[in-house]
Amino acid sequence: MEMNETNQIEETLLKEIFQKLDSARSVQVISHIRPDGDAIGSLIGLGLSIRESGKNVQMVLSDGLPDVFRHLPGIDQVQKQGSGEFDLTIVVDCSDRSRAGDALVNVPIPDVNIDHHPTNTNFGRYNLIDVNAVATAEIIAIYLIQFGYPITKQVADTLLFGMITDTLGFRTQNMTPRAMQTAARLMEAGGNLPELYQRGLLNRSFSAALYWGAGLSNLERDGKIIWTALTLEDRRSTSYPGRDDADLINFLSTIEGFDVVILFIEQERNIVKVSWRAIPKYDVSKVALHFGGGGHRAAAGASVEGSLEKVQDTVIQTTKKILGINLD
Ligand code: 5GP
Ligand code: MN
Repeated sequence: MEMNETNQIEETLLKEIFQKLDSARSVQVISHIRPDGDAIGSLIGLGLSIRESGKNVQMVLSDGLPDVFRHLPGIDQVQKQGSGEFDLTIVVDCSDRSRAGDALVNVPIPDVNIDHHPTNTNFGRYNLIDVNAVATAEIIAIYLIQFGYPITKQVADTLLFGMITDTLGFRTQNMTPRAMQTAARLMEAGGNLPELYQRGLLNRSFSAALYWGAGLSNLERDGKIIWTALTLEDRRSTSYPGRDDADLINFLSTIEGFDVVILFIEQERNIVKVSWRAIPKYDVSKVALHFGGGGHRAAAGASVEGSLEKVQDTVIQTTKKILGINLD
């Protein structure tokens, strides 16, 4: 496809989306279960900007909000369930509709799907997917600015937070000059980069540090793959309040000399959350897709049914097979 052709499709799509948005009086914005910084930043940034433009807005996350995000502006206005009727439903940062959890039960086809995951299934009526965006928050920032929606300090802070967290502080392989320019625009609108960086990526609670310790003490390796698990017992014994990994995966991926890192996080009801990280040579989103999940080439995840032990075995074997590593 020619560059121009892509742009043209994009222009028409964008115009139609913003015509719908301009004429809507009530809008529901939804993001994904087990929300990360981009899910929350995109949800609140878009929601607050649309509200500021004079519309009735509900921001919905069917899952609980991790404690680490409590400082974000607008977080107290996020609801577990939407109520009433909406002219428009916008889903952000979800690569498939199941990622929205219960938030979409009464919405057969969401109107707008905004995302940056290559594994996105185009489940919306309009699909604004930009795989070159470092975060869904970047896509939202670019078009809110282009179409003249308000970028208040709160909008700038939440969108910048999404960009900072999804790029681990602007250092992931997918970084672009455009992302830096967009971040700069958000700073100009009042986004507090150092504070958001500190809160989103560096600060850790005492229990999170203990939880890391539990995971690190069980680190295993097989050739170029390393992995560890965080069990329900680790969560209990360290009093870690979340169901997530407290960002341990991002620390594991800084260990040198490995191709793939896998983290298993045991959940209730016989489910194990799996996270993969890989060096540029490998595409772990393929493995995550095989297990019903999704993500990016370098970072992907899935929820897999089974006991921790069984899921570990199957996932490690399948990862080796699909990526063709360590088979010698
Ligand atoms: P993480 O391993 O940090 O949870 O996620 C890494 C990437 O994979 C993120 O882009 C995230 O959205 C995606 N991801 C994680 N878990 C799932 C999942 O269960 N389903 C899908 N579709 N994507 C996931
Ligand atoms: Mn994202």
